[in-house]
Formats: sequence, C-alpha cells, structure tokens
Amino acid sequence: MLDMTVITDAEIALPAEPVALQHFIDGTWVDSADGAVSERVSPSHGVVVSRAAQGGETETEAAITAARAAFDDGRWSRIPGKERAAVLLKVADLIEQHTERLAVLETLESGKPINQSRGEVGGAADLWRYAASLARTVHGDSLNTLGDDMVAMVLKEPIGVVSIITPWNFPFWILSQKLPFALAAGCTCVVKPSEMTPSTTALLAELMVEAGMPAGVCNIVLGYGMPVGSLMTSHADVDMVSFTGSTAVGKKISQIASGTLKKIALELGGKNAQVVFPDADLDAAADAVAFGVHFNVGQCCNSSSRVIVHKDIADAFTTKVVELSRRVAYGNPLNPDTQVGAIVTPEHQAKIDGYVQEAIAEGADVRLGGAPLEVEGVGSQFYQPTVVTRLTSSMRIVQEEVFGPVLSVLTFKTLDEAIALTNDSVYGLSAGGWSNDVHTCLAFARRAEAGTVWTNTWMDGYPEVAFGGMKQSGQGREIGRYGFEEFLEVKSVVMRVGRTRAPWVNGS
Ligand code: NDP
Repeated sequence: MLDMTVITDAEIALPAEPVALQHFIDGTWVDSADGAVSERVSPSHGVVVSRAAQGGETETEAAITAARAAFDDGRWSRIPGKERAAVLLKVADLIEQHTERLAVLETLESGKPINQSRGEVGGAADLWRYAASLARTVHGDSLNTLGDDMVAMVLKEPIGVVSIITPWNFPFWILSQKLPFALAAGCTCVVKPSEMTPSTTALLAELMVEAGMPAGVCNIVLGYGMPVGSLMTSHADVDMVSFTGSTAVGKKISQIASGTLKKIALELGGKNAQVVFPDADLDAAADAVAFGVHFNVGQCCNSSSRVIVHKDIADAFTTKVVELSRRVAYGNPLNPDTQVGAIVTPEHQAKIDGYVQEAIAEGADVRLGGAPLEVEGVGSQFYQPTVVTRLTSSMRIVQEEVFGPVLSVLTFKTLDEAIALTNDSVYGLSAGGWSNDVHTCLAFARRAEAGTVWTNTWMDGYPEVAFGGMKQSGQGREIGRYGFEEFLEVKSVVMRVGRTRAPWVNGS
C-alpha cells in the first residue's frame, strides 16, 4: 500500500432513495414525452443518486419555444434592471438556505469532497449576487461631439435566447458563472447540465420559482449532448451558445453554430503550468502545486498538471511536492476532512492510468503513485496522487489533458526556456509564476499565453475578475464585466436634433 493519507469513514448518511428529476419548461416540471429516464450512480458509494428524465428533441424544442416567447414578449428582457436584480438576489439567498441539500447531491453525483461542494455552492451564491449588481449598472455610451445638430447613443441590449451547456466537474459553479449573468443582461435561457450531474441544476428550478422568476425565462432540459445539446446549438431561435466542456466538443459546437452564425462563448480544456523560479518561496510554491494538481482529483480545467522548475532546485522541490502529496487526504467524499474524492467514471479512471503507463513505457520516472486506489468500504474509483519526472515536453502526458491527480515535472535554466515550455501547448487557459522578484513575475505574466496568470498564488478567482482561455482553451470570457458583456448586443442610435438635415433630393 502506498504511504499516503486515506479517509474511509463518513459523517453523512447516504440518502434513502434516489432523487427524481424532471425537465423544467415554461414554468412547469415535466417528464420526457417518451418516458425515458437515466440514472446516476455515485462514483464513490455505488448507490443510485438520481433518476432523471432523459430529454429528446420534443423537450428541447419546447424549451427553446418557451425561451423565445419569454424573450420576445419582454416579460424579462424589458423590465427594469432593478426588478431583475431583485429576483437574482432572492435566488442567491435561497441557494444559501439550501446549501446542504445541494452540496450533498453535488458530492454524491460528482465524487468531490463535501466541504468542497459546500464551498462551491456558497461561491455560486456570491456569483448570483454579483450578477444582480450588474443588472442595475449596465450602460452604453453617449456621443455628444458629433456636431451641433447630432447626438448618438450606443445602447446595450440583451442578446436574446441563450443555450447554456455545462460539464460534470463543477456543475453548480459553472452554471452560476453563466446563468445569472445571462439573466442579469435580460436574456432568456435553455440550460442542459451533464447527464452525469443533473441534480443541482434541476433543483435550481425550484429556487428560481420561489424567487419569482417568470415562467419561460429559464428552462432546463435534462439529457445527453446528442440530441439535446446539439439541437440547442443548431436551432435558429437560439441567439447564443455558452458552453463549458472539452475542446473536442467545443469545436463541434463551433461548427454547428456556424450554420446560423449565432454567437458562441467557449470555456474549454487546459494544460496549465506553474513555473518555479529559484528565488521563490519554495514551501508556498510546493503547497500551491500540490493544491493545483490534486484539487477535484485533477478533474479541473485549471488543473496545474505541469510544473516547470529551475534545474538548480528541481530535485529538492520535487521531493517537497511528493511529501506534501502524500499528506493530502484522499478518500470518502462524505467526510468533511477529505480533500480529494472519487474519479467521475471507471472509463475516466482507466484513461488517467493509460497516460501514466504510457509515460512509464517511454522512460518516465514515477516518483509517487501511478496506480488506481481502492478506499476501504467506499469503492475503487479513485486514483493515487501521482508525480512523474524524466519527461520531455512532447510526450502525451505533458501535452494532453490527463484530467487526473497526475503532475508532470519539467525543468528549465533560463526565463526564455521557462516561457517557451509554458507556451508549448495548444491550450492557453491559465499559468502561474513563482518568484520573489516582481520583475520576473511581470515578465512571466506578460509573455505567458494564458487567459489568466497568477503570480505567487494559484486558482484564486473572484466574480469581478474575467476568466477564459486563449488558443484552444476557448473563446470569449466569463464572469466580471467582460463576461457580462458577452450576453449583450450593441446598438447604435444616431439622432438629428431638430429639422436641420440638408435635403439629398433636389427641391425636397
Ligand atoms: P464534454 O465536452 O464531454 O461535455 C460537456 C457538455 O457538453 C455536457 O453537458 C455534454 O453532454 C455536452 N455535449 C456533448 N456532446 C455535445 C454536442 N455534440 N453538442 C452539444 N453538447 C454536447 O466535457 P465533460 O463533461 O467531459 O467535461 C470535462 C471537460 O470540460 C474537460 O476537457 C475540461 O477541461 C473542460 N472544462 C473546461 C472548463 C473551462 O472553464 N475552461 C471548466 C470545466 C471543464 P453529455 O455529457 O451529458 O452527453
């Protein structure tokens, strides 16, 4: 047995029976027309957590029709921002009141530790509150310098009907990075969660109704990418698709959406590097590297799955990371002391292991872990904390998203080399630099090809600060004012003041 920290017991009882979930369309909860359902089995405890209606084209069409009607008649898009804000604030309060219920379901469906789910739900409430503040402050421009007889306004308007498609790794958080911002702008929405983690999205419908959201403004269809997500992307009555998921599916969405030239916003994968310069606070950096790779079992677009360390400190630093990784508490997600939980599916666990075994076959050295993990009484869908060295940048484990608790260690000698390795990726989501010299930090931040650069920290996010990717990590931004603007259309209104316009047709 690997010398590591494993937690087996739980403080929360498993639910007596699965939660039953329906679609939420035009203010009404409905089953699928054909009666189809899908079940989600907990990756950590093997119990059926939810039994969800499995939607098809009928439900998707109905949801889009409802969202279109709700947008066009102005029941949400044309009411004062103050009124939209009041509803969003109420939803935020209700999310907080229901934190425990939401967190337990999130943990059982995703396999993540309960304390992390609680944090995710609390953070999501804050996103709803921040979005509410934007509903009241959105504004465009006025141009009063066009001449005595002219004035112009640039108005911001809601873009229309937005399809929101989300993944399984942070179901409630990612939904809350999109939905309240779209709603604050005055858009109406159709939402599809991953079929593996539908519960918290479906339960949100109850909270929105209690908060006073008009029928048809937010519609939720449960089901698979095909056909639900695909129709949400191709449909002519949808004005924008906001998607978070894999780069492969993001590319498909981009192709399908081009048929109607609708706007797309894509948050995709990452192969993010933390770079450790020799003058850095090595204890703090090692802790951040352990956090960056093990958080959410590495099933995280922001996972810092690469660490690029200066050659002079590489051995000592890697030893520190290995020792810290042993102390990270893996195990039963229902125990509040657990820091890392289960892998989402057995197939994904096999994929993670495949990357590690391939690297070993190519000559890599596994300094820690490198195998699946069984947690007594909880199950075998876990993976050991893993640290891999003796790698080259071209190997698949270094280039591709492993999406597991697997750290690839690379080394550098010069700043240029560190930057070149950081940018040697098709992805460009996030990057981190560790140095006590502000000039080194700034040089790194300016040259790293990433939508977010952290220096002397990792994965600190705020509703106010835009998030998104460069290169094949995405298009557009989420959260902050930039994220909000994605849901707004720009309209210029040019006005003549008085009847001063010179006639174009002679004698008119
Ligand atoms: P997927 O891309 O497989 O799925 C994401 C969502 O898209 C799911 O709801 C899925 O439905 C749906 N979908 C699948 N096929 C289609 C289609 N043809 N048309 C429309 N929708 C479709 O990603 P995962 O759920 O596996 O999530 C993991 C991936 O997400 C990782 O690559 C990760 O990097 C990325 N990610 C990126 C983030 C970012 O902000 N940049 C944040 C979090 C994750 P279903 O699965 O139900 O069939």
